[in-house]
Amino acid sequence: MSGAFHFERVAIVGLGLIGGSLGHAVKRAGLARHIAGHARSEATRKRALEIGFVDSVHESAAEAAKDADLVVVCTPVGALGPVAAEIEPHLKKGAILTDVGSVKLAVIRDMGPHVPEGVHFIPGHPIAGTEESGPDAGFAELFEGRWCILTPVPGTDQAAVDKLNAFWTACGSKVDVMEPKHHDLVLAIVSHLPHIIAYNIVGTASDLETVTQSEVIKYSASGFRDFTRLAASDPTMWRDICLNNKEPILEMLGRFSEDLTALQRAIRWGDGDKLFDLFTRTRAIRRSIVDAGQDIAAPNFGRNPTHAQPGGKQDQ
Ligand code: NAP
Repeated sequence: MSGAFHFERVAIVGLGLIGGSLGHAVKRAGLARHIAGHARSEATRKRALEIGFVDSVHESAAEAAKDADLVVVCTPVGALGPVAAEIEPHLKKGAILTDVGSVKLAVIRDMGPHVPEGVHFIPGHPIAGTEESGPDAGFAELFEGRWCILTPVPGTDQAAVDKLNAFWTACGSKVDVMEPKHHDLVLAIVSHLPHIIAYNIVGTASDLETVTQSEVIKYSASGFRDFTRLAASDPTMWRDICLNNKEPILEMLGRFSEDLTALQRAIRWGDGDKLFDLFTRTRAIRRSIVDAGQDIAAPNFGRNPTHAQPGGKQDQ
């Protein structure tokens, strides 16, 4: 550490919602003397520089990562392995290499083999996001009060874990350390399944022939539109999550299907008590989320403009 900075040079590879928000947060908190950025397209690199959440942009991930003390890879999960392979020869001894991918075992599988001796690889996942993507979607407050999960592999240097923990804390996050396998199971139920269900229900509605498309849109405020927010999330990101967290997702989908069948039976047999009990239990979960500070208590998800929070933050 030098002066007030946590890091001299931070490299952010992938300059979309998460990479952009991280750049803004690092700048706001003054955590790095220099932020070097890389994204695949020239348009994104140019835009990131214009917005100003990076200090320099580079045509290759390797150039951005060169001499960095902290490298945060913020690309879709499917690109993490190839990016790690590209930057491997350029990583500085003693540097921390991390990511923000929404799954962790697959990331360790894909990035792990490309970590040179003396580089501290600490996978991470900020549980914060919106349905927007790209460099214009980022904002400094995204991580405020949200959890960031670190999943260090056995034998990782504790001082490096503490340093990354302090970094995310300074970005506004609360930090938890977890086994990668457990992370993937927990996220399968709290994030991956809700998105898959949302993609599915919106797909079903768009295929319906008995209800016209325009009626689906017109009357969407009765519930449908709340699913469409999740179902508007980035297709590349969610394809990669499904492909890379297969087993936990299939396990949770199996349980979900069984519970759905039980619900179907309760409706068929007019078992009002069963329905009422379930709906009462689920309502209590909503209250617990608000009590834990992970959502606001405002009705209708704060859609009333006087209750809206910056950026329409959600967790993923
Ligand atoms: P995003 O807004 O779509 O941004 C992705 C960025 O990665 C873009 O700048 C893209 O560049 C760049 N990129 C893609 N492939 C690349 C490659 N091969 N080499 C270099 N750059 C590449 O996505 P995001 O929402 O920030 O998500 C990024 C990561 O964060 C994902 O791993 C996701 O699982 C994780 N995550 C997302 C959320 C969320 O809510 N969105 C929350 C937590 C974690 P171009 O613009 O040039 O294509």
